[in-house]
Amino acid sequence: MDLFELETWLREKNSAQLEKLWRQADHVRAHSVGNAVHLRGLLEISNHCSRECQYCGIHVGRKDLERYRMTRPEIEQCIHQLVDFGYGTVVLQAGEDPGIIPSSIEDLVTWIKGNTYLAVTLSLGERPLEVLRRWKQAGADRYLLRIETTDQALLDSIHPGRPYGSRMDTLDRLSQLGYEVGSGIMVGIPGQTYEMVAKDIQWFKDMDLDMIGIGPFIPHKDTPLSDTLSRVTSKKEQVSGTETMVNKVIALSRIACPEANIPATTALASINTKFGREKALSHGANVVMPNVTPKVYRVLYDIYPGKACISETADVCHSCIKKRIRSIGREIGSGPGSRKKVISSNLN
Ligand code: SAH
Repeated sequence: MDLFELETWLREKNSAQLEKLWRQADHVRAHSVGNAVHLRGLLEISNHCSRECQYCGIHVGRKDLERYRMTRPEIEQCIHQLVDFGYGTVVLQAGEDPGIIPSSIEDLVTWIKGNTYLAVTLSLGERPLEVLRRWKQAGADRYLLRIETTDQALLDSIHPGRPYGSRMDTLDRLSQLGYEVGSGIMVGIPGQTYEMVAKDIQWFKDMDLDMIGIGPFIPHKDTPLSDTLSRVTSKKEQVSGTETMVNKVIALSRIACPEANIPATTALASINTKFGREKALSHGANVVMPNVTPKVYRVLYDIYPGKACISETADVCHSCIKKRIRSIGREIGSGPGSRKKVISSNLN
């Protein structure tokens, strides 16, 4: 699809028309990645952060937030639990925490690869090439780093002190090092236009991303972006962070990138707690990331308000998610669920 078509779909309001988009995305999903929904256990290992991301509730300026960093035995216990649940991947996520020393992750990844069959995904922010290389050599398989928006001026304004180029360079390094690379965007950032989002979708394709995470921007009162309206210049051009808009971006990304692993994100489940995940799975998504963080810590990983599953245990999340997947006639994936490069380009 060219930029004009993408933008036209993003602006589409007619539900009969949208039904065609949902059907096409679901068809491409079934044909290219199948019916299995892969589960990735998400472990939020630290909420310390040295960055000032203007949208994020755990940014460095948030002085009132109690900070935590999980210990190695705590992490190992959670990993044993997610192995028992049958998940094929662990995702280790954190703020950009200088207290997480590279060798601790290196040791941890070595332990996971030596003691489990899990694929390891890291989501630990922008890190130097040498560190990323060490983690890869220890056995890490994948890395998630959302670009948030590919519009340089907008990205620079929400990431003070860390320009656009450094995030882009990190993504390039990750693919050169042989990681499966995941990126993605928030939809509805103040100042984000339809054209920008259409370009983001083209960028996903140009980057040949292995994983694409798309969620709504959810304003957090303790961040500079809490007062979202003051930033919006033209209402006509501003993309909203509604469920339908996010699902349009998911559907268009699936059509543009048939083989990518696309999660039904927690942020989407947070704005529609009833059926957010099921809807995303029916509109192109094929992955869910159940939270396996201990209950005491997950409330402190306060990146946005109203986060789904905040007061639940890993056990509860596990059975709830399995039920939701089966309720829409899909099956639970087995194994690591890596990206498979098998599809010819004739679907595009
Ligand atoms: N430090 C890591 C992990 C960040 S948290 C990194 O920089 O990659 C993971 C994701 O949560 C972010 O990439 C962002 O897309 C999302 N997020 C943060 N704040 C948010 C908000 N207010 N609304 C919606 N999503 C948010």
